Amino acid sequence: MAGIYIHIPFCRQACHYCNFHFSTSLKNKEELVTALAQELTLRRVYLGEDIIETIYLGGGTPSLLDESEINVLMETIHKHYTVSAIAEVTLEANPDDLTIEKLKELKAGGINRLSIGIQSFDDKDLTWMNRSHNATQARSSIKEAKALGFDNLSIDLIFGCPTSTEQSWLNNLELVTQLDIPHISCYGLTIEEKTALAHQVKTQTGQLPNEESNAEQFAITMKELSKQGYEQYEISNYAKNKLYSNHNTNYWKQVPYLGIGPSAHSFDGQSRQWNQANNSRYIKDLAVGQPSSEKEILTSKDLYNEYVLTQLRTQWGCNVTDIIENHPDYAEHFAKEVQLQINKGMLQKIDTAITLTQEGKYLADQITSELFVT
Ligand code: SF4
Repeated sequence: MAGIYIHIPFCRQACHYCNFHFSTSLKNKEELVTALAQELTLRRVYLGEDIIETIYLGGGTPSLLDESEINVLMETIHKHYTVSAIAEVTLEANPDDLTIEKLKELKAGGINRLSIGIQSFDDKDLTWMNRSHNATQARSSIKEAKALGFDNLSIDLIFGCPTSTEQSWLNNLELVTQLDIPHISCYGLTIEEKTALAHQVKTQTGQLPNEESNAEQFAITMKELSKQGYEQYEISNYAKNKLYSNHNTNYWKQVPYLGIGPSAHSFDGQSRQWNQANNSRYIKDLAVGQPSSEKEILTSKDLYNEYVLTQLRTQWGCNVTDIIENHPDYAEHFAKEVQLQINKGMLQKIDTAITLTQEGKYLADQITSELFVT
């Protein structure tokens, strides 16, 4: 079992909070797609004979690809890899790209799951974020995707914007239920380095976020979505009817994956590898058949820390048996630190699973780091 991630490093405009790798100039798009296909071909042995269960086109904005570009990528994957007949094939899309014609092309091209970057259904928030779509486009993209049979549908939302209030955030969540969306990735606004938002915070200009409303809206999200029957299967991810993101769930379970494209990361169970985050250099290197990347062999300590980092955020938590069998050198440290957090009410033990309590979810990053081995 394995996954393929393809990074599409282009966006129409830069959202003020975003520090992903992308370019707002689309002039190299065609060459870049050729380079992605070339990398897929060159690295076909990376995952051995593993069957590809998930394919994820992320970015950036993969919905900027046209029909022929998506076909090139999908055909190259099918030519060089064994893909499960029931593989989950996700494409991240922005609402303003999702015309009816585009949705039909995506369906015909083998995309069976959409992750739509809605972020908010409120124009005030969208303007503050510098998104390229408006609230009307957000709603209609979801309705049209569903009408065309994209039942496996996810949207991204961001809480904690300075333009949002408790009521406007509740309105967002109400629309989620009204539109009957089966999967939601819901993130608190964070201030990332080298973004327009970081600059605003540094210079104290514009409307700035505050931590208190971030925590309040996180609490509202958990409460409201749980009332509506969503399972919080990971700290930022909620699903109905077990329509989890298989691709992301496999990341959290340390299933190997191949990352293609500028800035993409790969993991083979023992090492991590990451491509340079530079579109022009990536195209030039692939043109001569030499993808350039850096690699790190993971030590037993790294593997333990990664296990804790990814598992603790999920509803399945860290399993004591996994720790004893796969990370025996750190089992004693784990047991000691877990007990301290149980005593503080941040973690709980149910059979052999260690999971975050409701209170612990607010401090997930801090608790995880307490369990790390340094
Ligand atoms: S949030 Fe998405 S659309 Fe906005 S700049 Fe980042 S990658 Fe592009």
